[in-house]
Amino acid sequence: MPRRTHGEDRKRIVTTKFIKVAKPFVGEEEVAAIREVLLSGSYVSGDKVAEFERRFADYIGVRHAVAVNSGTAALHIALEAIGIGKGDEVIVPPLTFFATISSVLYVGAVPVFADIDLDDLCLSHESTEKYISPKTKAIIPVHLFGCAAKMAGFISLSGKYGIPVIEDCAQAHGTEYNGKKVGGLGKAGTFSFFATKHMTTGEGGMITTNDPHVAEEARIIRNHGMSSPDVHERLGYNNRMTEIEAAMGLVQLKKLDDLNKKRIENSEYILERIRALSWAEVPVASNSVRHTYFWCPVMVRPESGKTIDELKEHLKNNEIGFRQRYQEPLYRQNVLKKIDLDYSHVNLPNAESVVGKVLGLPNHPGLTKQDLDRIIDVLKEF
Ligand SMILES: *Cc1c(COP(=O)(O)O)cnc(C)c1O
Repeated sequence: MPRRTHGEDRKRIVTTKFIKVAKPFVGEEEVAAIREVLLSGSYVSGDKVAEFERRFADYIGVRHAVAVNSGTAALHIALEAIGIGKGDEVIVPPLTFFATISSVLYVGAVPVFADIDLDDLCLSHESTEKYISPKTKAIIPVHLFGCAAKMAGFISLSGKYGIPVIEDCAQAHGTEYNGKKVGGLGKAGTFSFFATKHMTTGEGGMITTNDPHVAEEARIIRNHGMSSPDVHERLGYNNRMTEIEAAMGLVQLKKLDDLNKKRIENSEYILERIRALSWAEVPVASNSVRHTYFWCPVMVRPESGKTIDELKEHLKNNEIGFRQRYQEPLYRQNVLKKIDLDYSHVNLPNAESVVGKVLGLPNHPGLTKQDLDRIIDVLKEF
């Protein structure tokens, strides 16, 4: 194995390729599609956005898709389109990217944290039920790291209490739950096309829904609240996706299934081979989930006597990239205190037990068999 050592080994070190943890897959086809738009002179609200929306809706299996300029905007607009606002409470997981929470704050609602399940690290519907109050107006399960949250539980909560579910699918493009794509299981789904996600438009996002009213409101909100030129129906924003982004998205969407297939194969190849290592703990997706491995997640068993910091050091020394998020439950973020939200009493044991303990290993579609075997060998040496 190549390692950072001295003397005659130095030459090998120099030739060892650093393996990146994530990488966008963009080539000549995207360049050609963008070039065509640039030369067309039509950059906003044109055919490409409409076609991207139609094809994305077909892919997810929903009636409507509304393209916007980020995953955060998708969440924000979905909440507003559903009518969430001041005085409302929205139940969210503590282990996710902050945008899941900031979108709730943008509409003037209060995020209420429920705990996660340890098998999939997603929001727990059992914990969620304990936090439902008369003020609860939405639940946002996040399909974390590419694994679907237990949607059967959320759909039954939604029916029992009449509370809409918004799926945050920013890490789960193509993930399936009981044979159906996530993003079509609740009232609305939201996606991000940021550079590191399963597919990208640089920046970008999408709202998916079967509800024509939600789709219509979302279209108005993303476009200055205009229902027609010069008629401003409600307070909106400029959160439109450009034709340039949509043209790139159309090409990426065509590639998505192939990219996901590679991502899944790479992740399963690594995880199957390291699962038996005494220090390694690998979350196991249930049979009802087609996991798309936004992350290839691994944890270090505390009883092994090894630590995650040692694993990070070992990977670094061997030129292997990784990521480590989220380091704190979101209810501990400084910003919340600054806007007078006091979560000091909140302590969710499952979330507390895993924050900062999950490492994402490289699994992107560009890895070769040699790369994968090198990753596995390095992990076996740990
Ligand atoms: C990436 C991400 C978002 C935000 O998407 P942007 O396009 O970066 O605004 C929201 N939620 C989750 C879970 C994410 O991973």
